[in-house]
Order: sequence, then structure tokens, then C-alpha cells
Amino acid sequence: MLLDLFKNKKCFKLVCGAGNEDAKEVEKLVTLYSKAGCNFFDLCAKPEIVDAAKRGLENAGIKEDRYLCVSVGIKGDPHVSKAKINKDNCINCGKCDKNCLQKAVLKEENSYKINTQRCIGCGRCAKECPKQCIEMTSEFKNLKEVLPPIISKSIDCIEFHALGEDENEVDEKWNDINNLYDGPLSICIDRSKLGNEKVLARINRMLERRKPYTTIIQADGAPMSGGKDDFKTTLQTVAMAEIFQNAKLPVFLLLSGGTNSKSTELAKLCDINAGGVAIGSYARKIVREYIDRDDFLENEEVFNKALAIAKNLVDISLEHMN
Ligand code: SF4
Ligand code: SF4
Repeated sequence: MLLDLFKNKKCFKLVCGAGNEDAKEVEKLVTLYSKAGCNFFDLCAKPEIVDAAKRGLENAGIKEDRYLCVSVGIKGDPHVSKAKINKDNCINCGKCDKNCLQKAVLKEENSYKINTQRCIGCGRCAKECPKQCIEMTSEFKNLKEVLPPIISKSIDCIEFHALGEDENEVDEKWNDINNLYDGPLSICIDRSKLGNEKVLARINRMLERRKPYTTIIQADGAPMSGGKDDFKTTLQTVAMAEIFQNAKLPVFLLLSGGTNSKSTELAKLCDINAGGVAIGSYARKIVREYIDRDDFLENEEVFNKALAIAKNLVDISLEHMN
């Protein structure tokens, strides 16, 4: 059972990217990280991406104790946004390409363009663009249409990104999810726009609909910022988790947002009782050169090199949980 992973503090979640619609990349990531011991996978809410993850589990020959979660957000959620280049102002400097950990910026003959399937909306390219010609866009999604075909594929959890300031939209979407799905739910939340008090008020309100210990709080430090492997990058994650721990909520805690190989170690040093860790940007970055190869799944030598790196991250992370 998924929630047993949290009770036993054994959850390692790979964030493939809520906006990552690149099925081949997701299949490769799930194949690799499931073999490395990762037991929970965060996916874009599309049936074809759930299918890709299931192919990954089949490739790895793993049938048990691996769980799939899809992520949905509200309008403006950076996790489901996409970058768009306004070519009129672009000077082809290539800074967007250089700064994209996801390798989602493509160089064409005389210009750059975004591979929207692969873009995860982190916004690094937009921050670095000297001409401010990259815009972040997000589409409105009706969860009553999006979720049923995915729920029919026997997923194990739905994660709701309760980000942004619109309390009505959060409540509306949360009610939709609860009405459509009766399994474990995860709430991904950070305090960048709300501050501590409003975050706790929102969470307490959301938990009124939930039975105790059927909800995971993904305490997002600094979303999609985990490019570096140091304590400073993961500090916000641990600080955010502490807020929820001190509030003594009937939930399981998952460290997230700026997570890396130091996250569980820092959490342990700070007496944070988390049930697991979710790692995205950093976990993908350290194997990027391997998974971008076309022969990744067939070339044993290449796969095994990536496997050693992935396994090391999973092992180190879980070691500090207990
Ligand atoms: S840097 Fe982030 S937002 Fe920009 S293209 Fe890459 S993944 Fe998308
Ligand atoms: S960083 Fe901006 S100006 Fe430079 S290539 Fe990218 S979009 Fe064009």
C-alpha cells in the first residue's frame, strides 16, 4: 500500500514533471529509477503519460510496491506552465538553451524554440533571457474532464498543487478531486505567495474533507529549484516541512521543492519526521546525459552507468530517513 511507505518512512518519489508530456522520457525515467529503488512516481495528468510510466515499470520487470501519482494544478501553476518565445525580440543569444536543465529549448537554424512536450514550466529560461521575450503560459483544465480517463487507469494517488492566491479556485478544484477519486491525495503547497498563516489556514480547510492519514502534504520549499546539490538549496524544503510538523496535522509529510541528495540528511538533523522525499530537477539532471540517448534502454553499459548514479541518490536519501 502506498501509505505504508510513508508510515515506514521509505518513500522516494521521482518527480518526472507535472508538465512533462514527453512520454519517451517518462518511460526511461521510470525504468531507471524503479530499478534504482524509487517507489513512487509523479506524472503529468495525461493517460498516455500514465501508460508510458507503466511501460517503464514493465521494462524494469517490477510488479509490486511501485506507485503512480498524477499532478494537477490551478491556472497559473508554474508546474503546468509552458515557456513561449516571442521571436520578434529574440537576439538568438542562446541563454535560454544554456539554462534549461530539462533540455527543452531547441536550436533551429537561425532561432530557438521550446519543445513544449518536455518543458516543465520552471521559468529559468525566462529569468535569464536578456530581452524578456519568454512568456510563461498555462491552460485552464477542467478536472471533471481530465481526471476520469486517468483514474480508470488505476493510479495510486492524485496530487493537487494548491498554489496561488485564489482560495475559491483552490476549494473548487479540491472538491472536484475529492468527488471524483476516493484514494490517497497529496497536496503540494509552498508559502511564497501566501506566508505561513494563510498556508496553514488553507491546509486546515482542505483537510476538513479528509479522513486522518489519507493525505500527503508535499511541503514545497522552492519549487523546481533543485539544480544544485547543497544544504542551502534544500533549506526552504525543510523549513516548510517544519511548519506542518509543528501544526500536528493528521497527514504524512513529503519533502519537496529544491530537494537533492542532502534533503533527508538536513531534515534528520532538524528533527523533521518526514515519510519521504520527492526529488525532481536534481534527480533528472544527474542522469540527463544518459537518458537523452536514443539507445538508453537498449545499451546495457549506458543504462548501468545511469543506474549507479540513480541508485546512489535513492540509497543516500532513504538512509537518512530512519
Ligand atoms: S528552462 Fe524551464 S520553463 Fe524554460 S524551456 Fe526549460 S523547462 Fe521550460
Ligand atoms: S535567452 Fe531570450 S534572447 Fe536569448 S535566445 Fe533565448 S529567447 Fe532569444
